[in-house]
Amino acid sequence: MPLLIACGPAAHQTPCGIDVDGSPSSLTSEGLQSAVRAALRGATFTTDPALADPAANCKAMEGFTVYTRPTPTFIDEGEEVFGATRCWRFEVIVGTPESGEWRLSGLVHELFHVMQRCAPGHANWERDGIFFGIGKSEDPSI
Ligand SMILES: [Zn+2]
Repeated sequence: MPLLIACGPAAHQTPCGIDVDGSPSSLTSEGLQSAVRAALRGATFTTDPALADPAANCKAMEGFTVYTRPTPTFIDEGEEVFGATRCWRFEVIVGTPESGEWRLSGLVHELFHVMQRCAPGHANWERDGIFFGIGKSEDPSI
């Protein structure tokens, strides 16, 4: 039987194995879980074959850490953005939404990049309904 050893805050882990970093932020473990659920649900509205398997979408997030910036947008590689994803570093960086609702921040958008394993750009996002899926994920009635 495995021993539970406390090596620091371990309460952040979500079911998909994506975590928030430890720095002060309004993004809680619950907030991240809500965004993860929204992204997984949003993926079911797309026609992208790469997003067809919910278990694989969850698995794609494993090992990622979400870092936050205190403002809604920030400068990343010379561009003003709401978020950025660096798959090779297992990092998602996202601005803090003015509303405080992380589900409506750039976080879900970045989670789609993670679920797509950082396929470059947004080449198929219109065609395969990914923007539509993100919109659906923001709909509180679903
Ligand atoms: Zn993007």
